[in-house]
Amino acid sequence: MTRILHRQIHATLRTAVGGKGVELFDRDGRRYIDASGGAAVSCLGHGHPDVIAALHAQADALAYAHTSFFTSDVAEALAERLVADAPAGLDYVYFVSGGSEAVEAALKMARQYFVEVGQPQRARIIARRQSYHGNTLGALAAGGNAWRRAQFKPLLAETHHIDPCYAYRYREAGETEADYGLRAAQALEDKILELGPETVMAFVAEPVVGATAGAVPAVAGYFRRIREICDRYGVLLLLDEVMCGMGRTGTLHACEQDGVVPDLMTVAKGLGGGYQPIGATFLSGRIYEAFAKGSGLFQHGHTYICHPMACAAALAVQEVIARDRLLDNVQAMGAHLARRLGERFGNHPHVGDIRGRGLFMGVELVEDRGSKAAFDPARKLNARIKHAAMDRGLAVYPAGGTIDGIRGDHILLAPPFIIDAATVDTVVERLGEAVDAAIAQAA
Ligand code: PLP
Repeated sequence: MTRILHRQIHATLRTAVGGKGVELFDRDGRRYIDASGGAAVSCLGHGHPDVIAALHAQADALAYAHTSFFTSDVAEALAERLVADAPAGLDYVYFVSGGSEAVEAALKMARQYFVEVGQPQRARIIARRQSYHGNTLGALAAGGNAWRRAQFKPLLAETHHIDPCYAYRYREAGETEADYGLRAAQALEDKILELGPETVMAFVAEPVVGATAGAVPAVAGYFRRIREICDRYGVLLLLDEVMCGMGRTGTLHACEQDGVVPDLMTVAKGLGGGYQPIGATFLSGRIYEAFAKGSGLFQHGHTYICHPMACAAALAVQEVIARDRLLDNVQAMGAHLARRLGERFGNHPHVGDIRGRGLFMGVELVEDRGSKAAFDPARKLNARIKHAAMDRGLAVYPAGGTIDGIRGDHILLAPPFIIDAATVDTVVERLGEAVDAAIAQAA
C-alpha cells in the first residue's frame, strides 16, 4: 500500500534502504551495482564520507536563506569554481533545483535577452527530435519526444524540431561521417530560413543525447557547423548537458570535445551527484551584460534557487572529483567499458550499435542487424532487460518504445566515476546475461 503517486502506478518497486560506493541495497538485503547512477546522477557513488561531512557542516551553519535577502558563501564559492572551469565566455551561473528548472531558466534567459536588446520578435525555439530536455512545460516544449509531448501540446511554447545527429539511424550508405555531420547541421539553417531568422530565439540540443536515444554523440564537426549557423543568424545556442555534463563523458563539459562554446548551458545530475537536488544554467557575459545594462534584473526565480545545502553538496562533489582526479578514471574506465561491451555485444545478433563517450555508453538493440529493424514495442524488451538485470544485481537505465517514428530499445550505462575495472567486467557480464534472458523471454 502506498500513498505516493508513483510514475508507474501498477509497478511494484523494491525499497532502497542504503548505498555504499557503486552499490545500492534494498530492504530484502539484495545488492545492486548502480551501473547507470540512477539516471546518470550518482557520479561519486553512494555514501561518500566527504560529501556527507560537507552536508553536516552546512546544516550546522546555514540550511536556508532566501535569495531576495541574502547570498551565501557556499553558493558564491560554487559559482566561482564552476565559472573558472567552464568554457571561456560562460561567465555567470544561475542555481536551481534540477535539470528541467535549469532548462526553463535558460529559455527565459534567451527570451529576455532578445527583449532587452530590442528584438522582441524572436521567440521561436528550434530543437531536435529524439531529445529530452525535461518535463516542465518550457522544457517539454523543447524536447523532441512526441509521445511525452502529445497530451500536453496545447500548453507548450512554439518549438520546431529537426532531425538529430544520429549516425547509426540517419547516415546514408556511402556518406562519410564528416559529410553526414554537415548535412545534419544544414537542417538547422534550412529551418531558420523557413521560419525567418528574425523570429528565432534559440537552438537547443544535447551534445550527447541521453534518455531518449541512449548516449548518442554527434559526429565530429556537427556542432562546429551548428555554432557557425547560430552565429550567422544571431540565434542563441543552448546546449543541454543535464545528463552528459559534469565529467560524465571524460571532460568536465561534453561540448569541450566538440570544440564549441554555447551561449547558454545547463547542467544538473552530476553536479550534486544525487546528494542534493541541484541544477545550474551557465550564461555568457554578453547575456549577463544585456540584463545588467537593461532592466537590471532577471525576471525569474524560485524559492529554492542557490539553496545552501544543495550548493554545499555540489561543491563537495566537485572538489572530490578534482582532488581524486576522477576524470582520468572516467576516461580509463570508459575505454575499458567500451572494449568490454564490444567483446560481449560486438557480434551479438540483436545489438545494432554500441556508442557513447567516457562513462556514458549506450547499447541499441535490434530485431535484425541487417535491416536495423527494431523489436516490436509490444514486446517491451527494454523493460524486460531492466527486470532481468535487477534480478542479477544490476541497475541499468533502459529506454525505448517509438520516438518520432524511430522504434528502438536502448540500454544506457552511466556508472559512478569511482568504478574499477573488475566491477566494469561484472557489469558487462550481468548485462549480457540479462539481455539474453530478456530476448528469450520476449520471443
Ligand atoms: N535535460 C536532459 C538532457 C535530461 O536528461 C534531463 C533528465 O533526464 C532533464 C533535462 C531534466 O532534468 P530533471 O529530471 O532533473 O528535471
